[in-house]
Amino acid sequence: MSLDSTQRAATVAALQAETWDLLVIGGGITGAGIALDAAARGMRVALVEMQDFAAGTSSRSTKLIHGGLRYLKQLEFGIVREVGRERAILHRNAGHVVIPEKMLLPIVKGGTFGRLGVQIGLWIYDRLAGVKRRERRVMLSRDETSRLEPWLRRIGLKGAGLYSEYRTDDARLVIEVMKTACTKGAVALNRAGVKGLLYEQGHIVGAQIADAFSGEQFEIKARAVVNAAGPWVDGIREKDNSLKGKRLHHTKGVHLVVPRERLVVEHGVYFDVGDGRMIFAIPRAFWTYFGTTDTNYTGPLEHPAVTAADVDYLIGAVNRMFPRAELDASMIESSWAGIRPLIHEDGKSPTQLSRKDELFFSASGLITIAGGKLTGFRKMAEKVVDVVSKRLGDGGAQPWGKCTTHKITLSGFDFFSSNVEEGFAHRVALQTMIKLEEVEWMVSLFGSNTWAIVHLAGGIDRLSILKGTVRYCIRHEGVTTLSDFFVRRTAMLYFGRKWIADSLATTKAIFAEEFGMDYDSDPGGVFAEEYRRAVEFE
Ligand code: FAD
Repeated sequence: MSLDSTQRAATVAALQAETWDLLVIGGGITGAGIALDAAARGMRVALVEMQDFAAGTSSRSTKLIHGGLRYLKQLEFGIVREVGRERAILHRNAGHVVIPEKMLLPIVKGGTFGRLGVQIGLWIYDRLAGVKRRERRVMLSRDETSRLEPWLRRIGLKGAGLYSEYRTDDARLVIEVMKTACTKGAVALNRAGVKGLLYEQGHIVGAQIADAFSGEQFEIKARAVVNAAGPWVDGIREKDNSLKGKRLHHTKGVHLVVPRERLVVEHGVYFDVGDGRMIFAIPRAFWTYFGTTDTNYTGPLEHPAVTAADVDYLIGAVNRMFPRAELDASMIESSWAGIRPLIHEDGKSPTQLSRKDELFFSASGLITIAGGKLTGFRKMAEKVVDVVSKRLGDGGAQPWGKCTTHKITLSGFDFFSSNVEEGFAHRVALQTMIKLEEVEWMVSLFGSNTWAIVHLAGGIDRLSILKGTVRYCIRHEGVTTLSDFFVRRTAMLYFGRKWIADSLATTKAIFAEEFGMDYDSDPGGVFAEEYRRAVEFE
């Protein structure tokens, strides 16, 4: 069943029509990955998400698929090896959203890493992560570094290491995984929150769902239930009366976006703040974004705020490393804050907490997955689905085989049908007469699904393309609100806020055409508030 928001009633009916093998709670990268893995093995899978897909942490990260150099510093070799190798797999299966990016690690006087440390560290990193020979790290002298990144501070600069990582669009990665899960038979619904859990003889057998779209409630029955609610997992464990032992420790991470000309970086730069922490500055189209902070967090989990203190911290760090930037708060184009769902360890500071994932098993049968990284989602899913598969197979034939997601091409990367991805945008532009820059925008977000948008657009001008994109997102990507469209499907709120004003009236008109004239595309004024918060800090 596709993620067609105009057919929600049919999706709700389908969710109630059978007892599922697996119900997944949470539509971030962890839940989406589990749904894909399980559906690909042949399980009947249902997934519910109380907000929009990826509206939690999975649209608020640094947007890197990375091996985690910081883990090397913490001597967590296992994580470095596993997530390092994952990068290549994700690039192979979803090359339109997982894109190679060279990173620069400057070596500065008094910095975290000395020249020898960088040389050895990146050497180990490349080998653990299985990086191809020609992509392995290169050590640069001070002058070479300055030539490559002229805005870097010269004083105290000793050189740099240039190494390979991958960048992504986290929310788009989630939606492509979710769409692929649906093509394998999973049924997923957003704006559908778990309000209560269902039990028979003490064993969990499903959940009570509140549908924020229709205002109705319904039940989903399942033989196994997985809690993949990210920062909210303890809330679900509480409902299950199983919140004992280890708990989550929430920390907040903030990113700021400025126009590219305000902070010119040619590569992603991973640099010292000066307080023992390191942050990234990453170029993306006409912008550079930088972050992150890492502070303890106890506030509301939905829509965490960026504060003036967060802004001061990040701007201060950038201005020290890139003195030419002379940034101030008025130059910020946009921002976001995300909550890390880490596992609490007594006496450790936010930065020292491990990013490892962990499974919790409750007496009721609820399986919870906590912690982890965007990058490692496929392996996390494999671990969870192996457990579910064993449990469901208990005492009978085991119909489900092994994980196959390493071989599954994600939605949007079906370029094999048109040869190779290179030149795809040019070919579409040539065949349709749509301006190349418009096609490139679509391809950067939707990959090979650009063709479906072109067909829905019904014209080749910018407005037609916008209309086609909104229709595509409503009919194929579960979009029901302005926030879904502008924040998570197109990232316009973060990278291109100025275009929202031009697009708003047309976007609302398409929502009215698809859902009816009285339709409220910004329920509760959530998008208006998100828009304000992107540039106004508490
Ligand atoms: P979420 O994305 O939060 O998904 C959980 C979902 O469950 C939410 O959408 C929520 O609405 C839903 N939910 C909650 N309760 C209910 C309910 N009752 N009913 C239904 N649904 C419910 N990792 C990387 O690999 N690379 C990075 O560059 C990176 N950078 C990061 C930077 C920051 C600042 C942060 C905070 C994290 C970063 N991470 C990064 C980590 C990564 O983003 C997270 O590990 C990952 O996104 C967590 O995904 P998740 O699906 O577990 O949680």
